[in-house]
Amino acid sequence: MKNITRRQLLGATATAIVSAPLLNLMSRSAEAADAPRVDPNDAQAKALSYVHQSPKPDNLCSNCQLYTGPAEAEWGPCALFPGKQVAGAGWCSAWVKRAG
Ligand code: SF4
Repeated sequence: MKNITRRQLLGATATAIVSAPLLNLMSRSAEAADAPRVDPNDAQAKALSYVHQSPKPDNLCSNCQLYTGPAEAEWGPCALFPGKQVAGAGWCSAWVKRAG
């Protein structure tokens, strides 16, 4: 049986500590990308007047405070539609300008 030095053990532990959150984040991104798209005819989407193509050129899901996807992504998660994706070019009546 091979003996592990203290340095090797500390290095492996540090790698595991650094890697775990990154792997978790990558896993969640993959899950979000696989999520179904919001159907504009869903009751909640209708109640919020959600559309895949914003009628307001400067008010887009991709620059909304509630959008949690990358700004340049075509589709991404929104806090109002958990487990689903909205169009980056979409819009709804709950739109709030992203801070910063
Ligand atoms: S709140 Fe409305 S405008 Fe903002 S990201 Fe969600 S669906 Fe788009």
